[in-house]
Amino acid sequence: MIPVSLDNQLKNYARLLIRTGCALKPGQEVLLTAPVDAAPFARMVVEEAWAAGAGAVTVEWADDVVSRLHYLHAPQSAFEKVPEWKALQRNGAAERGAVILSLDGEDPDGMAGVDPSRFTAWSRSVHRDCKVFYDGMDLGRNVWCIAGAATPKWAKKVFPNLSEAEAVEKLWKAILSTARADGSDPALAWKDHSAAFQRRVELLNARQFHALHYTSQNGTDFTVGLNKDHVWAGGGAETVDGTWFFPNMPTEEIFTSPHRCRAEGVVHSALPLNYNGGLIEDFWVRFEEGKAVDCGAKQGLDLLKSILAVDEGATHLGEVALVPHASPIAQSGILFYSTLYDENAACHLALGKGFPECVKGGLEMDEETLKAHNINLSATHVDFMIGTADLSIMGLLPDGSSAPIFQNGNWAGEFA
Ligand code: ZN
Repeated sequence: MIPVSLDNQLKNYARLLIRTGCALKPGQEVLLTAPVDAAPFARMVVEEAWAAGAGAVTVEWADDVVSRLHYLHAPQSAFEKVPEWKALQRNGAAERGAVILSLDGEDPDGMAGVDPSRFTAWSRSVHRDCKVFYDGMDLGRNVWCIAGAATPKWAKKVFPNLSEAEAVEKLWKAILSTARADGSDPALAWKDHSAAFQRRVELLNARQFHALHYTSQNGTDFTVGLNKDHVWAGGGAETVDGTWFFPNMPTEEIFTSPHRCRAEGVVHSALPLNYNGGLIEDFWVRFEEGKAVDCGAKQGLDLLKSILAVDEGATHLGEVALVPHASPIAQSGILFYSTLYDENAACHLALGKGFPECVKGGLEMDEETLKAHNINLSATHVDFMIGTADLSIMGLLPDGSSAPIFQNGNWAGEFA
């Protein structure tokens, strides 16, 4: 469904995804995953890919209803191995240097009632059988980009009180504005956005703060340690051959992985956390020596405790992310029920696995070495939002001095 009034903006958005998000080069192959319920927009993307000189365009259609039926009824063996043709399609495209573009329009409730062990089995199988494909993205050989596309079921979840057509139009508008694609020159808007990211990332990396101190009216008073040689990242990414691209559109966060054993104090949630189909609301976690030692919640305390119980690493932090309250996603006030959007809505922390790229040389380290560098290891990674409109974050230096990073929820001092 393409609301007629948005036709031009959606064309601009399709062009932005191909030319800026994927930085497509003439002759390069495109592997596009798209929801069937957003087919008209997917076709616009395909048209833009050819217009940009693509060498081949392959579309892998995703259908929530068919997927759910598969998860419900297929024999267990179907989740233990990826069909050869499918593995060949993905691995082959990655080997030929394809850009991998995914349009995300999933129905947030589309997998209700599916046995979660089937997801685990399938995830294990695709990562094993499509290793070339995933390594291509993880190790910077292939360009990849995930962006939103409105579908009726997703739109009705976000705007339950509107008619389907109104909900879809409103969701498209939110997608376009948060992706900075609703103006006359989205590519230029992203050039500016990217430059702002780069300046702050470079500044944070140069400062090498020893710790961050968070305070907010809601009771948050929390200090988290940063590693020696920690690396902040955010905005775009670069392939090993030097192509600058955007893995997520929108993107608002600048993040690093903290010291797994240095976190003290209490953090309060700023937004509800959707976890395994349940909601955790108004919650807090208290840390001692990097470990979550106590927690409370107005709703969903058992769910919160189930996150901490995944493994030892789930009680430590793997990510600290800085997102200004002035960003378009936070300002929209919309709960998208989609990680791509909701994780970019506020400053957050994550319990669980840290990122190897967030310590110098980390991509070449094995797990033991990463742990020795205080990067947390875990089977899980769960983000939770702590960024309020009054949040203050001070950067602490080893000599005891400090500098403001955030004031009243937004970049402050030299970071403003
Ligand atoms: Zn994050």
